[in-house]
Amino acid sequence: MVSAVLSGLVGLVDLALPSGCASCAAEGPVLCRVCAGALADPAYLTRPDPTPDGLPPTWAVAAYAGAVRAAVVAHKEEGRRALARPLGAALARGVLAAWCGPSSSVGSRSSLLLVPAPSRGAAVRARGADPTLVLARSAAARLRGEGLDVQVVRALRVGMGMLDQAGLGAADRAANLAGALRVSRSAAGRVAGARVVVVDDVVTTGATLAEAARALRAAGAEVSAAAVVAATRRTGRTGR
Ligand SMILES: [Zn+2]
Repeated sequence: MVSAVLSGLVGLVDLALPSGCASCAAEGPVLCRVCAGALADPAYLTRPDPTPDGLPPTWAVAAYAGAVRAAVVAHKEEGRRALARPLGAALARGVLAAWCGPSSSVGSRSSLLLVPAPSRGAAVRARGADPTLVLARSAAARLRGEGLDVQVVRALRVGMGMLDQAGLGAADRAANLAGALRVSRSAAGRVAGARVVVVDDVVTTGATLAEAARALRAAGAEVSAAAVVAATRRTGRTGR
């Protein structure tokens, strides 16, 4: 009786949740070894063209395509929360490159704040979680495990009226975002004077990261870099 109930429950769970690799559907972990390989390259500096004013040096780990794109979408849109671990690990390498990589833009510092680029409130509510915050926390936990003093502060708030960025071109994104973000009152004390890396899952035009950097700098933060999991192909690769 109990086993019949259990197998019934297992069946329900199987129906409710996708399983296997989020990219290629291979049985096994949420990202199979082959697809995880797309996240294994060293972090590189990337630069959208055109580059928005104030965009900090931005480190990415992968091109936003193929297995990486599938994984990011499955995490953000389909709630595959187990992807926070591999995607967070990739983001951590981007943060680490910004911190102490060959072209260090943060420098070896004693502590660092990660500030996730905010998702639009309604979008976050619809998805039931803030996927960028989840990735930032995963990356920070990994870096703390390596002995680094990294904290996540959800410092940025979205003003009224900002549209979801998806589907907007570069110029529209910039117009949509100008002045759209602000540092919350509760976070102002933590970001003032702090070294900050802005993090996001994907960089496309750079408009979100540039606006995030503007708002943080206006609050007194030292925004030395940004780090993302993936960069769309319209962004260039400027070096390691
Ligand atoms: Zn796979």
